[in-house]
This record gives sequence, structure tokens and C-alpha cells, in this order.
Amino acid sequence: MLSLLNDPLLSDPYFLIPLVTLLGLFVGSFLNVVIHRLPLMLEHEWLSQAADLRGETPPQRERFNLAGPASHCPHCGHKISALENIPLLSYLVLRGRCAHCRASISCRYPLVETLTAALSGYAAWRFGFSLATLGALIFLWSIVALAFIDFDTQLLPDDITLPLVWIGLAFNLVATFVPLDEAVIGAMGGYLSLWAVYWLFKLITGKEGMGYGDFKLLAAIGAWLGWQTLPLVILLSALLGAVIGLTLIGLKRSERGVPIPFGPYLALGGLVALFWGDTLIARYFALAT
Ligand SMILES: [Zn+2]
Repeated sequence: MLSLLNDPLLSDPYFLIPLVTLLGLFVGSFLNVVIHRLPLMLEHEWLSQAADLRGETPPQRERFNLAGPASHCPHCGHKISALENIPLLSYLVLRGRCAHCRASISCRYPLVETLTAALSGYAAWRFGFSLATLGALIFLWSIVALAFIDFDTQLLPDDITLPLVWIGLAFNLVATFVPLDEAVIGAMGGYLSLWAVYWLFKLITGKEGMGYGDFKLLAAIGAWLGWQTLPLVILLSALLGAVIGLTLIGLKRSERGVPIPFGPYLALGGLVALFWGDTLIARYFALAT
């Protein structure tokens, strides 16, 4: 293991960056499965529990988990073979259509794969052959899955947000991104700040503006990047949310008062903070003094 860590090939950026980008492409393919199946699995679990409490037999549904069965075409049920399941490449070769019935495949799949690959490669370039790259990859992959799940279902599953909090704290035991005390205060501050905003908003307007998942996601970002980045993340995500929300209302794609998931904006804020947080905060204080 130690000899692997000292391997000059792995620490060579010309080898590491393409390798991590390729890894990101395959992880992106798996994230598509997580984004699609995890909310369905949770829903099934909740329905079963509810039925159980009422003393009824739980609803029967197709059994699946994140590992199997293999994906199939939603139109014709054609089982997607390993050759048709190569990230990005299969989509391009099949020109975005099912190999059997030619029904079009959502461009979301190659989009998530390309995004994950690009972010992974960028992380390898930024942090080099280090523990920080490993951490950044875990952070990025979780954030991408959360953003798309929240966008689709307005849900940020505890199964991702809570492990993300403690994995962030674990990485900062050796100050991978920030010293441990800053990470712990970050996790608490992240949760409490949005919790306070939530209750303030609810007391004033009587409406719920966010969900508890948002608090946990910001707690996770604080655990990874420290409390100093929290104002930046909140500011960025509120700004992005306002600009995109108003644009959608302007384009009449969305109505005022319809809840817009906040998670994707928090996720985007977290991404910016991971890569450029230090620079942005330093510039802000340089301007302020
Ligand atoms: Zn088909």
C-alpha cells in the first residue's frame, strides 16, 4: 500500500487527471442509478412502514436496489447490455436512442456523467495526488447526487446528507480542508443558521420555505469546508436561487409561491466554495480593509 502511495506514476498529473476523469465518468453513470432509484426505494420503504402501522400488507412492488437488477429501457423493457451501458460512449454511438425500440433516452444521463467526470478531473488537477483529492471526490459525487435528487423530488435523503456530515469531520481530523474545530463549528453553524431562518420565515409568513434536508446539507458543507465558508455558501445559493427563480417566473416556466427546491443551489454554492472559497473570501477581506 505504501509503495502504491509513493508510486511516481500516480503522482504524475498527466496520468492522474485522465485516470480520475475516467473514474468520474463511471461514477457519474452509477450516480444516474442513485438519482433515479434512491427516491423510489425510500418511497417504497415509507409506504411499507405506513401499511405496517395500519396492520395492512405492504404494497408489492418490483424489487430493486442500487446494485440490481440491470437497467432497462422504460419504453420497451429491453434489458440494457454492458456494451450499451458504457458511460457517454454508448449514448453517442446509439445517438441517444434505445438499441431495441429506438425510443429516445433522456440527455440527463450523459449530462450527469460528463458533469461528474469534469468535476472529478478538475479536483485531481486542483488538489493533486493527495488525501484532499479523495475527499473532494466523495464530496463532489454526493453533492451531484443530492442536487439532482432534490431537483426531481424536492427531497434530500438522510442516507446521503448525514454520512456526508461525519465523513467531512473525519477528513478534517487531519485538517485535510480545515482544522477540526472549524469543521465542527461549521457543521453546527450550518444546521443552526438555516434552522433559524426557517423558523423566522415560518413565524412571519406562516409558510415553510425550506426543508430539514437543507439544514443537513449546509451542516455537511460546514463540516467539510469550515464555518468561514458558510456566509459565502448562503449568499451564493440565495443569489443563484433568486436569479434563476425570477428568470423562471419571467419565462412563465414557474409560478410565484410554488416551492423551488433550495438544495441544488446550496449544492452549487458548496461546489464553488470547495474550489474557490479561499480566493473569494480573501478577495472580500482585501476589498473590505
Ligand atoms: Zn426500448
